[in-house]
Amino acid sequence: MLILGEVLGYGKDFGVYLEGNRIRAVAPAADLLARHPAARRLRVERVTPGIADAHAHPLFYGAEKRRLSLAGLTDLREVAARVAAHPDPGWVLGGGFLFDARPARALLDAAGRGRPVYLRSRDLHAARANEAALEAAGFSPDDPLVDWEAGWVVETALARLEAAAPAPGPEDLWRGLWAFARRGYTAVHALAYEPPEALSWAEARAGELPVRLWWALPRGAWRGVRPGWRGERLFVGGVKFFADGALGPATAWMHAPYCGGGTGTPVDAPEAIEAEGREALAAGFTLAVHAIGTRAVAGVLALFKRLPRLPGRPLRIEHLQDLRDEDLALLAQEGVVASMQPVHLAEDAELVRRRLPGREHEAFRFATVARRLPLAFGSDAPVAEPDLAASLREATRHRLSPGESLGFEAALFAHTRGAALAAGWEDYGRIVPGAWADLGLFEGGRLVARVFDGVVEDVEA
Ligand SMILES: [Zn+2]
Repeated sequence: MLILGEVLGYGKDFGVYLEGNRIRAVAPAADLLARHPAARRLRVERVTPGIADAHAHPLFYGAEKRRLSLAGLTDLREVAARVAAHPDPGWVLGGGFLFDARPARALLDAAGRGRPVYLRSRDLHAARANEAALEAAGFSPDDPLVDWEAGWVVETALARLEAAAPAPGPEDLWRGLWAFARRGYTAVHALAYEPPEALSWAEARAGELPVRLWWALPRGAWRGVRPGWRGERLFVGGVKFFADGALGPATAWMHAPYCGGGTGTPVDAPEAIEAEGREALAAGFTLAVHAIGTRAVAGVLALFKRLPRLPGRPLRIEHLQDLRDEDLALLAQEGVVASMQPVHLAEDAELVRRRLPGREHEAFRFATVARRLPLAFGSDAPVAEPDLAASLREATRHRLSPGESLGFEAALFAHTRGAALAAGWEDYGRIVPGAWADLGLFEGGRLVARVFDGVVEDVEA
């Protein structure tokens, strides 16, 4: 098959010739038409490498699609009304909210009508639960881990609610990955909110995965696992660590205090990340370290300076959301990829203004980072929907700091080649002979179809 159009990295009136699931040739359209006169032809505006989401949680994205969606709601009374109307007899699970006010738990007790209610915040670092859910998770009213009256649970205490609630299963992983495929993505990086056993669900059907899947394991869970490819669609590549929390609950670890006080907190202790990280590197994994606050970001970059490099396995800093000018020098190092999520700006811009007034310039520094490190872009789904158009828009028209906006091609790079570099996939994310035939096809500036493994599939509206 011959796909003609403006080919990213080559120019207008070029073509890509596909044979089976491989790219065979890239050349001016006229040359390819002469060489392959009988080939099936498809003409589009723009041809790019396959689009990747470099930071996602496909299992929870799939599970979220079954949950009560509370995105955009800020009033707990409205939330309670939705919970009350939910028809399921068992647990009422919800997610996607982001409100930091703390009215009493009683509203959710009433709305649950005897059912446990467990609602996760959009950033996954906090939750609302009613009495039935708190009790099912083994919390008690005088428990220091929870705010019982508010029905408010944060960070590590969330694990107990997760364990008590009905767990997501293989069908959720499948649903999540297919949702990416239908949106036109050809690659997804799973960043280990997934429980360790989820890898075996992916492995069981590795040959049928609807995207190329890069997989990171949670800390500890990599021991005894072999890194590398499982066939041609699943790659086990990383170990995930958390240097801090998130901006929403003010747990991202900062040098200077938040507007309301506090500087956030480390999650995995820095020494622990270094010790286990060195072992994981020696076993052939790379590290993907979550760092949002300035202090976490600087600490992780400083740690990376001390760590050895594996060929083709760059160290990944996930989010890199807040960065001080005085720490810019830490970005100057080889073998590191910055995995960022421009689409979060849509909701986080307001949060940054409120919690970090006067420090807006430290947030989401795409252009500053891109001058020093390769960028890989993702959505952090289900934190945000994997919406390529929205991601490109936020990256190219920065809400907080226009000077940090990227050009269109640089933003596209982060969703293609940059993501491939983060995965350590040498031939991926670029259009070269011999590479897998995974492409993005654009019309009117929008992704309208993908080519995955040589097969053209329209993006679903
Ligand atoms: Zn994440």
